Amino acid sequence: MKSNTIDYKAIGLKVGFEIHQQLDTHKLFCNCPSIMRNDKPDLIVKRKLYATAGELGSIDAAALHEMKKGRTFVYEAYNNATCLVELDEEPPHSINEEALDIALQIALLLNAKIFKTIQVMRKTVIDGSNTSGFQRTMLIARNGHINVDSLRVGIATICLEEEAARIIEKTNQSVVYRLDRLGIPLVEITTEPLAITPEQAKKIALKIGEVLRACKIKRGLGTIRQDVNVSIAKGVRTEIKGVQKPELIEKVIINEVSRQIEAINNNQKLTPSVRKALPNGSTEFMRPMPGKARMYPETDLPLITISDERIKKLKQQLPLLPEQKIAILIKHGFNQQQAAIIVDKQLFEKATKLIKHYNDPSIIFDTVCSNIDQHQAQELLKALKQSKITKHAVKQILAELPKQSIEAVLQKYKKISKSELEQALKQELSKTIQNIKQQGKQIKPDALVGIMIGKFKLKAETQEIVKACKKLLKELI
Ligand SMILES: [Zn+2]
Repeated sequence: MKSNTIDYKAIGLKVGFEIHQQLDTHKLFCNCPSIMRNDKPDLIVKRKLYATAGELGSIDAAALHEMKKGRTFVYEAYNNATCLVELDEEPPHSINEEALDIALQIALLLNAKIFKTIQVMRKTVIDGSNTSGFQRTMLIARNGHINVDSLRVGIATICLEEEAARIIEKTNQSVVYRLDRLGIPLVEITTEPLAITPEQAKKIALKIGEVLRACKIKRGLGTIRQDVNVSIAKGVRTEIKGVQKPELIEKVIINEVSRQIEAINNNQKLTPSVRKALPNGSTEFMRPMPGKARMYPETDLPLITISDERIKKLKQQLPLLPEQKIAILIKHGFNQQQAAIIVDKQLFEKATKLIKHYNDPSIIFDTVCSNIDQHQAQELLKALKQSKITKHAVKQILAELPKQSIEAVLQKYKKISKSELEQALKQELSKTIQNIKQQGKQIKPDALVGIMIGKFKLKAETQEIVKACKKLLKELI
């Protein structure tokens, strides 16, 4: 089914997001590093999780689905990168304040209302991905919004929570989890359901991604996961888990809508379900839709009070969004394309620092994009400012820098003096004129000047070459 044949408004498409983003700090409730490891684990712990009816009250469909499998959970741990907190052998330490600050920043950037008192909760987890059988989570803000084009996107809630352990291997008998990921701080952003098109959904996900990237978050595949809730009026609600790239969201929604329309047309029964996003944009069945999450207070941790001073301080240091950074760069004289590249490559701070040393956006653009370090960049700009090198030499110097020291390259492309230039030009011009005469061709002064500029532009300024050539040509021709 082609997407452009569907009238999304008419079929009552509603889309909501749950975006999970890892923060770039140590773990949320212990001091272990938030780093994925691929070397051999030091320790293996085997456990079986029992979800009893008594503890859970009435068992919901998802819990039953999981229990029936009766699997053993195997946990892989490291001596110096995971601790007893991840193994649930020790109570959680007090909250990672840096992670909380980042989550509060995100809430502020999303114009949400922050709670003055935060209660850490335990959310029942039945698939073994948390050693304790629950995930610690806390609601930090609600009722936010962002504008995407002319659309106002409501942000229902912003939570700070623990990342789950990651699956290494899954068989019918057991699931192997690695504890390196368990406990990494994770921000969960939930949007209000919106009547939008799949294309608008993609734009919203990209915009939220921009807000997140302005803050101290982890980058790269697997560090952001988007769950997309899709429903149509005559169909059911489907939760699609783990869309890894915002670019795929449009396709995932189109596929789900098509799947539901096809089922309705064929009189098939549709049931609300959780489906897994596959890398090609299609989805597969994961489990029935779980009931409402079971939450109860984390009694090992105190209530967290968010002071007005803390919010005030965070507001003063709020990071700039990409569009704000681009606007600043354009004010400095960079063009739109240069500004976008600088922001995208996370070179904004470097570029704004360097433009204070040498006010030439094109040179600064080439310099920051070339991966040279701050010392090399400053030496290069100092040499330019003091007219020790020409602007033309910058590209060549940048190209040669990785292999040589800045001092050596600057020496190599040092500007020559006026008399040295005249002497070298005289030699070069005489030789060239002689060649032309031997070939019986006509001497064209402008062409000769062009040739000389090409030969000497790395060592002298163009206008000096032109001036010297004109003077010499009068003598030579
Ligand atoms: Zn730990």
